[in-house]
Amino acid sequence: MKIKNAEFITSAVEKHQYPAEGLPEIAFVGRSNVGKSSSINTLLNRKGIARISQNPGKTRTINFYKVNEEFHFVDLPGYGYAKVSKTEQAKWGGIMERYLSDRQELCSIFLLVDIRHEPKEDDRIMYEWIKHFGYDCTVIATKSDKITRGQYQKHKAMIKNKLGLADEEKIILLSSLKKTGIDEVWDEIISSFER
Ligand code: GDP
Repeated sequence: MKIKNAEFITSAVEKHQYPAEGLPEIAFVGRSNVGKSSSINTLLNRKGIARISQNPGKTRTINFYKVNEEFHFVDLPGYGYAKVSKTEQAKWGGIMERYLSDRQELCSIFLLVDIRHEPKEDDRIMYEWIKHFGYDCTVIATKSDKITRGQYQKHKAMIKNKLGLADEEKIILLSSLKKTGIDEVWDEIISSFER
């Protein structure tokens, strides 16, 4: 995908703050530190459009980016911070549920997991939530440069088993460091627009 332009549009927590243009949306979600900001920057070929390593204490929001004037990238708030109060967790849940429960524009969600580790229980719940709301989900295994090629299959199987992915559901390996896997993610994004 040739990125002609990419710009930050807005941050939102309430529905009325979402962009109202009706552009198709592609959302990204994952545990904090999984490499979500880096992945968004890499896919958009922009160094700092999504912030890297946000302060975990900061209020979390849904961030919208407009790409090529045609669609939105939606950066959903990360989960799994060690030190988060029950109130903060409930806020996160509210933000997510409002968005996921009824978003006509949302074409597909990419769930990011770190290729090195078995997904955690909260990743599995996130995956189930996405399916529960009826969206397509593609898993991106981030930081693929951190393991050797010979380990790919083993790690993919570990992720598939833990999340409970169906055979036809893809896991795409992405490295923001080595810039690999970008075309596969874009192919998936484009096919989700056509579904
Ligand atoms: P976020 O919290 O999910 O947005 O994660 P960030 O994008 O801020 O990345 C968290 C950390 O992982 C940072 O130190 C990044 O430099 C590192 N990181 C992200 N992507 C990659 C990658 O593809 N390869 C490697 N080796 N490190 C990465």
